[in-house]
Amino acid sequence: MKKGMLIVVSGPSGCGKGTVLSEVKKEIELSYSVSVTTREIREGEVDGINYHYISKKEFEDLISEEKILEYTTYCGNYYGTLREEVEERRNQGHDVLLEIEVVGAANVKRLCPDAVLIFIAPPSVKELERRLRKRGTETEEVIAERVSQAEREIKCSVDYDYIIINGELEKAVNDVSSVIIAEKVSAQNKEQIISEVLNQ
Ligand code: 5GP
Repeated sequence: MKKGMLIVVSGPSGCGKGTVLSEVKKEIELSYSVSVTTREIREGEVDGINYHYISKKEFEDLISEEKILEYTTYCGNYYGTLREEVEERRNQGHDVLLEIEVVGAANVKRLCPDAVLIFIAPPSVKELERRLRKRGTETEEVIAERVSQAEREIKCSVDYDYIIINGELEKAVNDVSSVIIAEKVSAQNKEQIISEVLNQ
């Protein structure tokens, strides 16, 4: 069976990547890898759907048991990708989507050079700040921390395969979907396709 693709999507907190990706998932079948985190659960989030919310001790145990493919600390909390969420599904032929930050994305690219990296950017840092404030889930201090983190992340987007601006939702969704579809087609094994065409 052909191994599934690994698609890595990053973008600063508040850039709307969650909304873009949930629309993309309506159009394209993608297996979403649920990360583990030590951050507090936010209102509206569901354990096991948005993240697996675990303690610092549990997270550190997963690291020492080598059950984590990549991890990072972000705004004082651990975030990590579970190895089996990715490898088992890819081996079953499913395309796997990781929604992770830039350090993790660079590590994934090192470990899996065939991963496709997509960065979703806000139209501007000012607009990002406005969206974070409107979300109303973080304190002013956390918003300031997330804005300066966003500036650092946007600078890293130069290493991504694609940068997509989320100004207008519909366009951003269409751009991300087009990238995934094009990468899926280009990732196909040409020899196998040619032999199937010739032998059918
Ligand atoms: P949030 O707290 O807003 O849900 O996420 C903060 C940041 O952590 C986001 O940029 C998100 O993409 C990233 N993140 C979520 N899960 C993981 C993960 O498993 N690994 C890494 N490296 N980053 C993650």
